Amino acid sequence: MSNQQVRAFATEAAQEELKASTIIRRAVTEKDIEIDILFCGVCHSDLHTARNEWHGTIYPNVPGHEIVGRITKVGSSVTKFKIGDLAAVGCMVDSCRTCEQCQQNQEQYCEAGNIQTYNGHDKHLNQQTFGGYSEKIVVDEHFVLRVPENLDLAATAPLLCAGVTTWSPLKHWKVGPGVNVGIVGIGGLGHMGVKLAKAMGAHVVVITTSSTKVADAKRLGADEIILSTDNEQMEANASSLHFILDCVSAQHDVNAYLKLLKVDGTLALVGAPEHPLPIAAFSLIPARKNFAGSTIGSIQETQEMLDFCAEHQITADIELINIQDINLAYERLLAGDVKYRFVIDMASLKQ
Ligand code: NAP
Ligand code: ZN
Ligand code: ZN
Repeated sequence: MSNQQVRAFATEAAQEELKASTIIRRAVTEKDIEIDILFCGVCHSDLHTARNEWHGTIYPNVPGHEIVGRITKVGSSVTKFKIGDLAAVGCMVDSCRTCEQCQQNQEQYCEAGNIQTYNGHDKHLNQQTFGGYSEKIVVDEHFVLRVPENLDLAATAPLLCAGVTTWSPLKHWKVGPGVNVGIVGIGGLGHMGVKLAKAMGAHVVVITTSSTKVADAKRLGADEIILSTDNEQMEANASSLHFILDCVSAQHDVNAYLKLLKVDGTLALVGAPEHPLPIAAFSLIPARKNFAGSTIGSIQETQEMLDFCAEHQITADIELINIQDINLAYERLLAGDVKYRFVIDMASLKQ
């Protein structure tokens, strides 16, 4: 087998739009799987990276790390999958496999740094990794997930990032019955956080800047809703939450949200705005509060989350788009005009 050229959508620079292009996928090695990509979710991280908002983008850049598809080739020593199976790839495609974190099934915290699905380093081809806005992807089977057969495939794609990125901290901070959890920012991540926290048995409080999302929040599973732009509502809910998951993509005043925590409460950031977020010492000190962060989730956690979603019939609320509409979708994402995840129908790439 040899390397192959496949169709993709790429951007050449931070100020450029994404457009049709081609990339090289490596020949399938003995442990690899080739997936024909059927759907790919559009994460705000795709936009941050395409526009170099995190200051490390290697161009050309092909975003996309919420990938579902069907297996078209398997390497000679692959054991988990066979040709024709559904399969999924999330935010990582490799790690060192030997460090303490990798040994403990926490590849996302690999001490050498996990290899991201896009804008990472493909050691086989000695080039940047390219993501899911493409026809096919070749990945080591260890980083490929089994997809439940009973879920809508397009609506399953966002579970690969938005799902596991909210699942992992909710599990880590033991969210479940008896826990009041606040979810801040009801976008792709936030809406999954609400669904998952509710299914885990927690008391779920949505904290949003958008009055238009109040009605939806109940449907997603919220027990209570706080409009964060309304000071009276924020004051009335001071010291009420055990844990807050902050899924906000832009600058915001974290101190205002920390006020909502009880003594010993934790606010964990998964949202990753471009600029630092100032924290006042007295937002943390008087009630021994914790300010934390969390990145994606391990392969084991991703599979557990997918299986949990299959059992509880949980998928994302999506709007299906053609790849040719991706630049417009980014503008709408920035404007908060998505309920709640764009997913690209990759058949459109062949148009
Ligand atoms: P998204 O769909 O654009 O959602 C972001 C939400 O943040 C919006 O829907 C909005 O919710 C809220 N928001 C936006 N601007 C705000 C502002 N100025 N003040 C307060 N709230 C604001 O984005 P996403 O795909 O869910 O991603 C969210 C963030 O998580 C991004 O920064 C992304 O890069 C990051 N991320 C991190 C990880 C990780 O591993 N830690 C993984 C994936 C993504 P309301 O309308 O409800 O206020
Ligand atoms: Zn993502
Ligand atoms: Zn490692």
